[in-house]
Amino acid sequence: MENGDTLASVLGKAKIPSQQAHAAIKALSAVYNPRRLQIGQQIALTLNPDDSGQTLVGLELSSSFDRYAGITLYPDGDYRSFVTPKDLTKTTVASSGVISSSLFADGMQAGIPAATMANFLRLFSFDIDFERDVQPNDRFEVVFERYRDRDGNVVHTGNLLYAGFTVGGKERGYYRYSDGNGDDAYYNPKGQGIRKALLKTPVDGARRSSGFGMRRHPVLGYTKMHTGVDFAAARGTPIRAAGDGVLTFAGRKGSYGNYIAIRHNGNYATAYAHMHKFARGMRSGKRVKQGQVIGYVGTTGRSTGPHLHYEVMLNGKRLNPSKLRLPSGKSLKGPEFKRFKQQIAVIDALRQAETDDELVAAR
Ligand SMILES: [Zn+2]
Repeated sequence: MENGDTLASVLGKAKIPSQQAHAAIKALSAVYNPRRLQIGQQIALTLNPDDSGQTLVGLELSSSFDRYAGITLYPDGDYRSFVTPKDLTKTTVASSGVISSSLFADGMQAGIPAATMANFLRLFSFDIDFERDVQPNDRFEVVFERYRDRDGNVVHTGNLLYAGFTVGGKERGYYRYSDGNGDDAYYNPKGQGIRKALLKTPVDGARRSSGFGMRRHPVLGYTKMHTGVDFAAARGTPIRAAGDGVLTFAGRKGSYGNYIAIRHNGNYATAYAHMHKFARGMRSGKRVKQGQVIGYVGTTGRSTGPHLHYEVMLNGKRLNPSKLRLPSGKSLKGPEFKRFKQQIAVIDALRQAETDDELVAAR
Protein backbone atom coordinates (compact mmCIF):
# COMPACT_ATOMS: atom_id res chain seq x y z
CA MET A 1 0.00 0.00 0.00
CA GLU A 2 1.21 3.48 -0.89
CA ASN A 3 -0.20 6.91 -0.22
CA GLY A 4 -3.62 7.34 -1.87
CA ASP A 5 -4.07 3.63 -2.60
CA THR A 6 -7.24 1.72 -1.97
CA LEU A 7 -7.55 -2.04 -2.23
CA ALA A 8 -9.35 -1.51 -5.56
CA SER A 9 -6.46 0.54 -6.93
CA VAL A 10 -3.91 -2.04 -5.74
CA LEU A 11 -5.82 -4.77 -7.60
CA GLY A 12 -6.15 -2.45 -10.62
CA LYS A 13 -2.36 -1.96 -10.72
CA ALA A 14 -1.99 -5.76 -10.65
CA LYS A 15 -4.15 -5.86 -13.82
CA ILE A 16 -7.05 -7.70 -12.17
CA PRO A 17 -10.25 -7.14 -14.17
CA SER A 18 -12.55 -4.82 -12.23
CA GLN A 19 -15.42 -7.30 -11.98
CA GLN A 20 -13.10 -9.83 -10.33
CA ALA A 21 -11.61 -7.18 -8.07
CA HIS A 22 -15.09 -6.14 -6.99
CA ALA A 23 -16.07 -9.74 -6.14
CA ALA A 24 -12.80 -10.27 -4.26
CA ILE A 25 -13.21 -7.11 -2.15
CA LYS A 26 -16.79 -8.04 -1.38
CA ALA A 27 -15.73 -11.49 -0.15
CA LEU A 28 -12.85 -10.07 1.89
CA SER A 29 -15.18 -7.56 3.56
CA ALA A 30 -16.80 -10.44 5.47
CA VAL A 31 -13.62 -10.80 7.54
CA TYR A 32 -11.76 -7.52 7.08
CA ASN A 33 -12.75 -3.90 6.46
CA PRO A 34 -10.60 -2.78 3.48
CA ARG A 35 -10.85 0.84 4.74
CA ARG A 36 -8.57 -0.17 7.61
CA LEU A 37 -5.67 -0.71 5.19
CA GLN A 38 -2.71 1.48 5.98
CA ILE A 39 0.19 2.85 4.02
CA GLY A 40 3.01 0.32 4.00
CA GLN A 41 0.75 -2.65 4.66
CA GLN A 42 1.78 -5.82 2.83
CA ILE A 43 -0.82 -7.58 0.71
CA ALA A 44 0.10 -10.98 -0.74
CA LEU A 45 -1.62 -11.65 -4.07
CA THR A 46 -1.64 -15.01 -5.82
CA LEU A 47 -2.15 -14.47 -9.56
CA ASN A 48 -2.73 -16.75 -12.49
CA PRO A 49 -1.87 -15.19 -15.86
CA ASP A 50 -4.20 -16.10 -18.72
CA ASP A 51 -5.17 -14.84 -22.19
CA SER A 52 -7.40 -12.04 -20.95
CA GLY A 53 -4.91 -10.72 -18.36
CA GLN A 54 -4.66 -11.98 -14.80
CA THR A 55 -6.87 -14.02 -12.55
CA LEU A 56 -6.74 -13.33 -8.82
CA VAL A 57 -6.51 -16.73 -7.15
CA GLY A 58 -5.81 -15.63 -3.58
CA LEU A 59 -5.18 -12.65 -1.35
CA GLU A 60 -3.84 -12.57 2.18
CA LEU A 61 -2.95 -9.82 4.62
CA SER A 62 -2.24 -9.34 8.31
CA SER A 63 -5.58 -8.28 9.78
CA SER A 64 -4.46 -7.94 13.40
CA PHE A 65 -1.41 -8.69 15.49
CA ASP A 66 -2.45 -12.34 15.84
CA ARG A 67 -4.44 -13.09 12.66
CA TYR A 68 -4.26 -13.22 8.89
CA ALA A 69 -7.32 -12.65 6.75
CA GLY A 70 -7.80 -13.37 3.08
CA ILE A 71 -9.77 -14.89 0.24
CA THR A 72 -9.36 -17.88 -2.05
CA LEU A 73 -10.88 -18.48 -5.48
CA TYR A 74 -12.86 -21.71 -5.52
CA PRO A 75 -13.40 -23.92 -8.61
CA ASP A 76 -17.03 -22.75 -8.75
CA GLY A 77 -15.70 -19.25 -9.48
CA ASP A 78 -16.59 -17.78 -6.08
CA TYR A 79 -14.24 -16.09 -3.66
CA ARG A 80 -14.43 -17.30 -0.08
CA SER A 81 -12.88 -15.62 2.93
CA PHE A 82 -10.74 -17.12 5.66
CA VAL A 83 -9.05 -16.10 8.89
CA THR A 84 -5.98 -17.93 10.23
CA PRO A 85 -4.15 -17.40 13.51
CA LYS A 86 -0.49 -16.38 13.42
CA ASP A 87 2.08 -18.61 15.04
CA LEU A 88 2.83 -16.52 18.14
CA THR A 89 4.18 -17.27 21.57
CA LYS A 90 2.62 -15.51 24.54
CA THR A 91 4.77 -14.92 27.58
CA THR A 92 3.96 -13.20 30.84
CA VAL A 93 6.39 -10.56 32.00
CA ALA A 94 6.75 -9.29 35.56
CA SER A 95 8.67 -6.07 36.03
CA SER A 96 9.10 -3.40 38.67
CA GLY A 97 10.99 -0.22 39.36
CA VAL A 98 11.45 2.69 41.70
CA ILE A 99 10.60 6.30 40.91
CA SER A 100 13.71 8.37 40.32
CA SER A 101 12.59 10.92 37.71
CA SER A 102 9.11 10.34 36.27
CA LEU A 103 6.85 7.32 36.20
CA PHE A 104 7.03 7.12 32.40
CA ALA A 105 10.80 7.46 32.18
CA ASP A 106 11.37 4.99 35.02
CA GLY A 107 8.87 2.59 33.46
CA MET A 108 10.74 2.71 30.13
CA GLN A 109 13.97 2.13 32.04
CA ALA A 110 12.42 -1.02 33.52
CA GLY A 111 11.51 -2.21 30.00
CA ILE A 112 7.78 -1.61 30.36
CA PRO A 113 6.02 -0.62 27.10
CA ALA A 114 4.50 2.87 26.95
CA ALA A 115 1.00 1.47 26.34
CA THR A 116 1.27 -0.60 29.52
CA MET A 117 2.42 2.44 31.51
CA ALA A 118 -0.50 4.47 30.12
CA ASN A 119 -2.87 1.74 31.28
CA PHE A 120 -1.18 1.69 34.68
CA LEU A 121 -1.60 5.46 35.00
CA ARG A 122 -5.29 5.23 34.13
CA LEU A 123 -5.86 2.53 36.78
CA PHE A 124 -4.45 4.66 39.57
CA SER A 125 -5.60 8.03 38.31
CA PHE A 126 -8.46 8.26 40.79
CA ASP A 127 -6.52 7.01 43.81
CA ILE A 128 -3.41 9.05 43.31
CA ASP A 129 -2.66 12.64 42.39
CA PHE A 130 0.44 11.97 40.30
CA GLU A 131 1.72 15.53 40.53
CA ARG A 132 1.50 15.86 44.29
CA ASP A 133 1.52 12.40 45.86
CA VAL A 134 4.24 10.54 43.97
CA GLN A 135 7.76 10.88 45.44
CA PRO A 136 11.19 9.46 44.62
CA ASN A 137 11.59 5.85 45.84
CA ASP A 138 7.88 5.06 45.46
CA ARG A 139 7.70 1.63 43.83
CA PHE A 140 5.70 0.43 40.82
CA GLU A 141 5.13 -3.10 39.62
CA VAL A 142 3.46 -4.61 36.57
CA VAL A 143 2.67 -8.03 35.11
CA PHE A 144 1.72 -8.00 31.46
CA GLU A 145 1.49 -10.23 28.38
CA ARG A 146 3.94 -10.13 25.51
CA TYR A 147 3.59 -11.80 22.10
CA ARG A 148 6.52 -12.88 19.93
CA ASP A 149 6.59 -14.25 16.39
CA ARG A 150 8.51 -17.36 15.27
CA ASP A 151 11.70 -15.30 14.89
CA GLY A 152 11.45 -14.09 18.46
CA ASN A 153 10.46 -10.52 17.58
CA VAL A 154 8.06 -8.82 19.96
CA VAL A 155 4.94 -8.12 17.86
CA HIS A 156 2.43 -7.10 20.48
CA THR A 157 1.98 -6.12 24.12
CA GLY A 158 -1.05 -7.81 25.60
CA ASN A 159 -3.13 -7.23 28.70
CA LEU A 160 -1.91 -5.65 31.90
CA LEU A 161 -2.58 -8.47 34.41
CA TYR A 162 -1.40 -6.75 37.56
CA ALA A 163 -0.56 -3.19 38.53
CA GLY A 164 0.93 -2.36 41.90
CA PHE A 165 1.95 1.00 43.24
CA THR A 166 3.46 1.80 46.64
CA VAL A 167 3.11 5.51 47.28
CA GLY A 168 4.21 7.06 50.57
CA GLY A 169 4.50 3.58 52.09
CA LYS A 170 0.92 2.65 51.17
CA GLU A 171 0.67 -0.30 48.80
CA ARG A 172 -2.14 -0.63 46.27
CA GLY A 173 -2.53 -3.46 43.80
CA TYR A 174 -5.09 -4.33 41.14
CA TYR A 175 -5.53 -7.64 39.35
CA ARG A 176 -7.24 -8.06 36.02
CA TYR A 177 -10.02 -10.60 36.18
CA SER A 178 -12.61 -11.76 33.67
CA ASP A 179 -15.92 -12.45 35.44
CA GLY A 180 -18.63 -14.97 34.58
CA ASN A 181 -20.15 -12.56 32.04
CA GLY A 182 -16.80 -12.18 30.29
CA ASP A 183 -16.37 -8.60 31.52
CA ASP A 184 -12.77 -7.72 32.24
CA ALA A 185 -12.14 -5.44 35.18
CA TYR A 186 -9.53 -4.76 37.83
CA TYR A 187 -9.95 -5.78 41.46
CA ASN A 188 -7.92 -5.39 44.64
CA PRO A 189 -6.78 -8.54 46.49
CA LYS A 190 -10.06 -8.54 48.46
CA GLY A 191 -11.98 -8.85 45.19
CA GLN A 192 -13.35 -5.31 45.32
CA GLY A 193 -13.58 -3.59 41.96
CA ILE A 194 -11.94 -0.23 41.47
CA ARG A 195 -14.19 2.35 43.01
CA LYS A 196 -16.34 4.19 40.52
CA ALA A 197 -14.20 6.98 39.17
CA LEU A 198 -17.03 9.40 38.44
CA LEU A 199 -20.70 9.02 39.25
CA LYS A 200 -22.72 8.69 36.08
CA THR A 201 -25.70 10.52 37.54
CA PRO A 202 -24.80 13.26 40.00
CA VAL A 203 -28.46 13.79 40.99
CA ASP A 204 -30.49 11.15 42.83
CA GLY A 205 -33.31 9.72 40.77
CA ALA A 206 -33.00 12.31 38.01
CA ARG A 207 -34.05 11.76 34.44
CA ARG A 208 -31.65 12.67 31.64
CA SER A 209 -33.57 15.28 29.67
CA SER A 210 -31.03 16.35 27.09
CA GLY A 211 -27.89 14.69 25.79
CA PHE A 212 -24.51 15.82 24.59
CA GLY A 213 -24.13 17.12 21.03
CA MET A 214 -25.81 19.43 18.51
CA ARG A 215 -29.34 20.47 19.38
CA ARG A 216 -31.82 23.27 19.07
CA HIS A 217 -31.29 25.53 22.04
CA PRO A 218 -34.52 25.69 24.11
CA VAL A 219 -34.12 29.37 24.94
CA LEU A 220 -32.12 30.84 22.05
CA GLY A 221 -33.96 28.83 19.36
CA TYR A 222 -31.04 28.19 17.01
CA THR A 223 -28.95 25.02 16.71
CA LYS A 224 -26.00 24.95 19.04
CA MET A 225 -23.53 22.49 20.53
CA HIS A 226 -24.77 21.19 23.87
CA THR A 227 -21.58 20.71 25.86
CA GLY A 228 -22.99 18.65 28.70
CA VAL A 229 -25.87 16.50 29.80
CA ASP A 230 -29.07 17.82 31.39
CA PHE A 231 -30.81 16.06 34.26
CA ALA A 232 -34.36 17.14 35.01
CA ALA A 233 -35.27 17.08 38.69
CA ALA A 234 -37.41 19.04 41.10
CA ARG A 235 -36.04 22.29 42.51
CA GLY A 236 -34.04 21.58 45.65
CA THR A 237 -33.00 18.01 44.71
CA PRO A 238 -29.46 17.42 46.05
CA ILE A 239 -26.58 17.46 43.55
CA ARG A 240 -23.58 15.29 44.41
CA ALA A 241 -19.88 15.60 43.58
CA ALA A 242 -19.22 13.03 40.83
CA GLY A 243 -15.83 12.20 42.32
CA ASP A 244 -13.31 13.19 44.98
CA GLY A 245 -11.72 16.53 44.18
CA VAL A 246 -11.17 20.20 44.85
CA LEU A 247 -13.58 23.02 43.97
CA THR A 248 -12.02 25.42 41.48
CA PHE A 249 -15.10 27.66 41.21
CA ALA A 250 -18.28 28.22 43.19
CA GLY A 251 -20.36 31.28 42.30
CA ARG A 252 -22.44 33.03 39.69
CA LYS A 253 -21.20 32.46 36.14
CA GLY A 254 -23.22 34.21 33.36
CA SER A 255 -25.70 31.96 31.58
CA TYR A 256 -24.62 29.01 33.76
CA GLY A 257 -26.21 30.69 36.79
CA ASN A 258 -25.00 29.30 40.12
CA TYR A 259 -22.08 27.16 39.05
CA ILE A 260 -19.54 24.81 40.66
CA ALA A 261 -16.45 23.34 38.98
CA ILE A 262 -14.44 20.50 40.55
CA ARG A 263 -10.96 19.30 39.63
CA HIS A 264 -10.46 15.55 40.10
CA ASN A 265 -7.40 13.35 39.80
CA GLY A 266 -6.54 11.93 36.40
CA ASN A 267 -6.86 15.35 34.71
CA TYR A 268 -10.64 15.17 34.89
CA ALA A 269 -12.89 18.05 35.90
CA THR A 270 -16.66 18.26 36.30
CA ALA A 271 -19.01 21.27 36.32
CA TYR A 272 -22.55 21.78 37.60
CA ALA A 273 -24.78 24.66 36.42
CA HIS A 274 -28.13 26.37 37.11
CA MET A 275 -28.11 25.44 40.82
CA HIS A 276 -30.79 26.86 43.08
CA LYS A 277 -28.18 27.24 45.84
CA PHE A 278 -24.92 25.75 47.07
CA ALA A 279 -24.49 23.38 49.99
CA ARG A 280 -22.99 24.93 53.11
CA GLY A 281 -19.27 25.66 52.93
CA MET A 282 -18.88 25.33 49.16
CA ARG A 283 -16.22 27.73 47.94
CA SER A 284 -13.15 27.61 45.72
CA GLY A 285 -10.41 25.43 47.28
CA LYS A 286 -12.84 23.23 49.25
CA ARG A 287 -12.12 19.48 49.11
CA VAL A 288 -15.10 17.23 48.46
CA LYS A 289 -15.67 13.47 48.51
CA GLN A 290 -17.47 11.47 45.86
CA GLY A 291 -21.21 11.58 46.53
CA GLN A 292 -21.01 14.58 48.86
CA VAL A 293 -23.87 17.07 48.36
CA ILE A 294 -22.50 20.27 46.81
CA GLY A 295 -25.74 22.07 45.94
CA TYR A 296 -29.38 21.86 44.90
CA VAL A 297 -31.16 21.75 41.54
CA GLY A 298 -32.53 25.07 40.34
CA THR A 299 -33.06 27.17 37.23
CA THR A 300 -30.65 30.09 37.64
CA GLY A 301 -28.93 31.58 34.58
CA ARG A 302 -30.20 30.85 31.07
CA SER A 303 -32.58 27.99 31.78
CA THR A 304 -36.22 27.10 31.11
CA GLY A 305 -36.93 25.00 34.19
CA PRO A 306 -35.27 23.24 37.13
CA HIS A 307 -32.48 20.98 35.89
CA LEU A 308 -28.80 20.25 36.35
CA HIS A 309 -26.51 20.96 33.44
CA TYR A 310 -23.53 18.64 34.01
CA GLU A 311 -20.21 18.74 32.15
CA VAL A 312 -17.15 16.47 32.22
CA MET A 313 -13.78 17.67 31.00
CA LEU A 314 -10.54 15.78 30.39
CA ASN A 315 -7.50 18.05 30.08
CA GLY A 316 -9.89 20.97 29.54
CA LYS A 317 -11.75 19.30 26.66
CA ARG A 318 -15.46 18.59 27.13
CA LEU A 319 -16.48 14.93 26.90
CA ASN A 320 -19.81 13.21 26.55
CA PRO A 321 -20.40 12.01 30.14
CA SER A 322 -22.67 9.17 29.05
CA LYS A 323 -19.90 7.74 26.85
CA LEU A 324 -17.32 7.57 29.64
CA ARG A 325 -16.14 4.01 30.20
CA LEU A 326 -15.90 3.74 33.93
CA PRO A 327 -14.88 0.88 36.20
CA SER A 328 -17.73 -1.15 37.63
CA GLY A 329 -16.89 -0.94 41.32
CA LYS A 330 -18.52 -4.33 41.96
CA SER A 331 -17.21 -6.94 44.40
CA LEU A 332 -16.53 -10.61 43.69
CA LYS A 333 -18.32 -13.12 45.91
CA GLY A 334 -18.70 -16.87 46.46
CA PRO A 335 -17.39 -19.17 43.72
CA GLU A 336 -16.32 -16.19 41.66
CA PHE A 337 -14.13 -14.91 44.50
CA LYS A 338 -12.63 -18.40 44.81
CA ARG A 339 -11.76 -18.44 41.11
CA PHE A 340 -10.29 -14.95 41.44
CA LYS A 341 -8.08 -16.09 44.37
CA GLN A 342 -6.74 -19.00 42.29
CA GLN A 343 -5.95 -16.66 39.44
CA ILE A 344 -4.17 -14.08 41.58
CA ALA A 345 -2.04 -16.84 43.17
CA VAL A 346 -0.62 -17.53 39.70
CA ILE A 347 0.11 -13.85 39.14
CA ASP A 348 1.67 -13.51 42.60
CA ALA A 349 4.05 -16.40 41.81
CA LEU A 350 5.16 -14.50 38.70
CA ARG A 351 5.64 -11.36 40.75
CA GLN A 352 7.87 -13.29 43.16
CA ALA A 353 9.98 -14.62 40.31
CA GLU A 354 10.07 -11.29 38.39
CA THR A 355 10.35 -13.07 35.07
CA ASP A 356 11.23 -11.09 32.00
CA ASP A 357 11.72 -13.17 28.86
CA GLU A 358 13.78 -10.34 27.34
CA LEU A 359 16.29 -10.48 30.22
CA VAL A 360 16.27 -14.28 30.21
CA ALA A 361 16.95 -14.26 26.46
CA ALA A 362 19.88 -11.88 26.96
CA ARG A 363 21.52 -14.02 29.63
ZN1 LIG B 1 -27.50 21.77 29.49
